[in-house]
Amino acid sequence: MSLARRIREMEASPTMAVDAKAKALKAAGEPVIGFGAGEPDFPTPDHIVEAARAAAYEPAAHRYSPAGGQPALRQAVATATSASSGQTYEAANVVITNGGKHALYNIFMALLDDGDEVLVPAPYWVSFPEQIKLAGGVPVAVATTKDTGFQATVAQLEAARTERTTALVFVSPSNPTGAVYDAEATAAIGQWAADNGIWVVTDEIYQRLVYGDARFVSLPQVAPAAAERTIITSGVAKTYAMTGWRVGWAVAPGEIAAGMGKLQSQVTSNVCNVAQAAALEALTGPQDAVEAMRQAFDRRRQVAVDALSAIPGVSVVEPMGAFYVFPSFEEVLGAEVAGRRVENTLDLAEVLLEEAKVAVVPGEAFGAPGYARLSYALGDDDLAEGIGRIAALLAG
Ligand code: GLU
Repeated sequence: MSLARRIREMEASPTMAVDAKAKALKAAGEPVIGFGAGEPDFPTPDHIVEAARAAAYEPAAHRYSPAGGQPALRQAVATATSASSGQTYEAANVVITNGGKHALYNIFMALLDDGDEVLVPAPYWVSFPEQIKLAGGVPVAVATTKDTGFQATVAQLEAARTERTTALVFVSPSNPTGAVYDAEATAAIGQWAADNGIWVVTDEIYQRLVYGDARFVSLPQVAPAAAERTIITSGVAKTYAMTGWRVGWAVAPGEIAAGMGKLQSQVTSNVCNVAQAAALEALTGPQDAVEAMRQAFDRRRQVAVDALSAIPGVSVVEPMGAFYVFPSFEEVLGAEVAGRRVENTLDLAEVLLEEAKVAVVPGEAFGAPGYARLSYALGDDDLAEGIGRIAALLAG
């Protein structure tokens, strides 16, 4: 075996795997409905695509640009993040990355030494534990359940804290649960982190996708004491239907931002200039498409919650943000589904794909066996049809 241990010991991304499998089956003519990876079904708004087209004809875009990002985009991110967080960020605090996922990897690489512990409230997004381990850190899951709305409390975090605790991952709105922490809970967690000298890595990629009475709260806005040890990540993927363009960012105190820029100068150089031009237009151009998409997601959210809740044995906590629903299937486990014994949600996801041609991501991928994640960022017809198939299969 010549493959390095760090890769042998690593899990491939389950969200990417489910998405690839569903897309491949679909391409082969199977009538698969994919609730797997979270990606808006809308096209990127025209004015953004036009900005990219114009950039593609600019000779400057054909050349290298600063590894940490184009100055105009870094400034636009600094301005937007200053407004949402109540802090003052400058272009030098921003690193433009190949999607939000890459920003997170850079952060852990810049922040962690071997053995440093990172608290990760579960259910968590699939890549956090693997990225933390790649950077030499130790992910420490802090379990939450549907009974507490999938929200971690200060008491739980404190119980998990040790001398090696270096950082906390804070994601609101949450992937995979759609939970949104309110201002009071966010402030309490931020203050706890500040009191204990713990870094906060806060993923704000779903900040524009909140529903009903829920409001997005940026952690440093309500916990200014934590700001000097807070790193914010976000990107254009979810807000502007730009998953494939791969533009995200990290906004960090100067030393950390410079460290991530240094890493990037050795590892990737700049993110595609054409994609950066598109991201700049997304941030600074008209915003009406954002609200139109949010309203569509909200409508689908309600359809998904109602349809899943009506299935016997399935229970749902209403998601208030992002575009995921995370139902519990615990009551249907241990039974036969389509003539096959289903012991856990890994089995269930397999049966759903094979027998109902519906792709979901099993809760095990998010550190939460017994649940499954469905993205409702797909077309209305597919959404209704897909959940209908799940209901029919479980009804036998
Ligand atoms: N964040 C999205 C998801 O969880 C994209 C897929 C991924 O990169 O994991 O589905």
